[in-house]
Amino acid sequence: MAEISQPSEIARETLRRLAMSKIPPTPDNYRTLYHEIAGTQAAETFPERAFKAIHTALPRATAEQTRFARQFDTAISGGSWDGIRGALTDLLARSGSEPLGWASLIRDLVQQLETHHVGITSAKKKESLEHVLSASASPELVFTRLQSVLRSWAQNPASENGEMAPPVAPAAQPTAVKAASAPAPSSKEGQPWRGGIVELKDLIAQLLDNTLSIVLADSPELSREATEIAAAARAAENAEQLAGLSERLKKLSYRAHFFAEDQAELKTALLHLINLIVENISELVVDDQWLAGQIAVVRELVQEPMNLRRLDDVERRMKDVIVKQSSLKKSLNEAKDRLKVMLATFVDRLADFSETTTGYHDKIEKCAEKISRANDIGELSDVLDEVMRETRVVQLNAARSRDELSTMRSRVDDAEKEVTRLQNELAHASEMVRHDPLTGALNRKGMDDALENEVSRVRRQDGTLSLALLDIDNFKKLNDTLGHAAGDAALVHLSKVVHETIRPQDTLARYGGEEFVVLLPNTPLDDAVSAMVRVQRELTRRFFLHNNDKVLITFSCGVAELAGEEVPYDALKRADEAMYLAKRAGKNRVVPA
Ligand code: GH3
Ligand code: MG
Ligand code: MG
Repeated sequence: MAEISQPSEIARETLRRLAMSKIPPTPDNYRTLYHEIAGTQAAETFPERAFKAIHTALPRATAEQTRFARQFDTAISGGSWDGIRGALTDLLARSGSEPLGWASLIRDLVQQLETHHVGITSAKKKESLEHVLSASASPELVFTRLQSVLRSWAQNPASENGEMAPPVAPAAQPTAVKAASAPAPSSKEGQPWRGGIVELKDLIAQLLDNTLSIVLADSPELSREATEIAAAARAAENAEQLAGLSERLKKLSYRAHFFAEDQAELKTALLHLINLIVENISELVVDDQWLAGQIAVVRELVQEPMNLRRLDDVERRMKDVIVKQSSLKKSLNEAKDRLKVMLATFVDRLADFSETTTGYHDKIEKCAEKISRANDIGELSDVLDEVMRETRVVQLNAARSRDELSTMRSRVDDAEKEVTRLQNELAHASEMVRHDPLTGALNRKGMDDALENEVSRVRRQDGTLSLALLDIDNFKKLNDTLGHAAGDAALVHLSKVVHETIRPQDTLARYGGEEFVVLLPNTPLDDAVSAMVRVQRELTRRFFLHNNDKVLITFSCGVAELAGEEVPYDALKRADEAMYLAKRAGKNRVVPA
């Protein structure tokens, strides 16, 4: 038999043999026989479903376990054997149930117990140990908490001469609280400490009340305990009473520590989740470009360290975009409906028209018959009259229909254009996340992106990039005399003039309130200065009109050329310094950095 090599031939042969040997044609049997015939080895498929089932069943009681489950999940989603291997290796390296992990932890523990750390007495260490051992429900928890306790000890410097920190003073001594803080000046008589303790007492109360109870807000029990200890600290009338709180404080401190660890873990998990969702959304949404801007911004947001101001800023811009998009979507739907109605009418009219002409044809046919049967001129002239009449009616109808149809058609064209315009605007609205809504120039975020692109292009092509930073002169005065709305209009005017004067490849961004940045690719310093002087001249030619009054807007500008390896923001800083020189030299000028 000729050797079978074509996949389709192998497939046919596989089916034939399955049938002949009466083997049930299950996927597994088919695959095995196929590879037997082809003389190949079955490629291992990634058992995603089986892995997912395992992932669902994984325990998530501790931070370690949650971390592993997440790592495992990422590997499954990526279909990555390497990822699975990495997750398992990490797990074993860290795992509390691994004898090796315990061994090194215990070794570490013994060593740290023998080391004398400044500010931690051995009594205090034992107490921490006792707490971890009694308060942790599972071996894994004991392991991670011990690790974390050891880490915190190791952060304190070890005292070389083996000198221990002073032992915890009995609660009755007023120095009890001081013992915890690093090198305390010794005092012979208790008296000089009094003021310090009162202050410390207030600070503890403040810390517990104003800070800790807020940080612990997600754990009402801990938060309440913090508030209660704060109240007790405030009420303490002497050092003994204050020292009496140390036990509660210690407990709270442990629990808060573990709580904080959980919170950090929670935050990481949430960020991971957001990332997943954002990644999936871009695949799910059909009108992807309507969301492109928002998705990009959120993706960056979760990758950088979180920052409330940035979150606020993104939320504000998102809201703008959402409002704009929802109103645009409404108009778009309305325009589409109008278009549909018009098309329906259009078709109706066409039908009417063809009906009229069909009627005409029928009548003319009848007339033709009459003509052929006509016996005399009189009869003929009657028929001709009829023909004339019908033709005239049809002509009139035709003319009317033609007019109507062409009007309809132009209205449909308009509606279609409107739909396209709205669709474009909708796509563009997403980009608003990158633009300043007032002036339409790029915003800070947009500028950062543009700067990054330009810099990588310049470095790739060995080109030049100049950056100009301009700040409107005496803008506060303009606002004060003409009003804030006029100020806004002036900003729009300035952006328009700059935008129309610079080259298409240059980029304008609003850097701050009345400060703008222009990126000038492939432009050496001198040319960039000339370009900005040109903008200045143009601005003196094209006045800003306020209530028909001509208002002259000027700006001061600093220009820097990006040096070889310079960080772009350093160049911007140089441009900023040059701009200040321009201000100091009398404003309305361009100064190279
Ligand atoms: P200088 O010539 O030294 O730059 O003086 P200045 O008055 O331009 O500078 P200053 O920094 O003192 O004032 C900037 C003003 O710009 C203050 C602020 O109210 C105004 N401003 C910032 N952003 C906006 C805005 O979006 N709209 C309006 N109308 N005014 C703004
Ligand atoms: Mg300014
Ligand atoms: Mg200014």
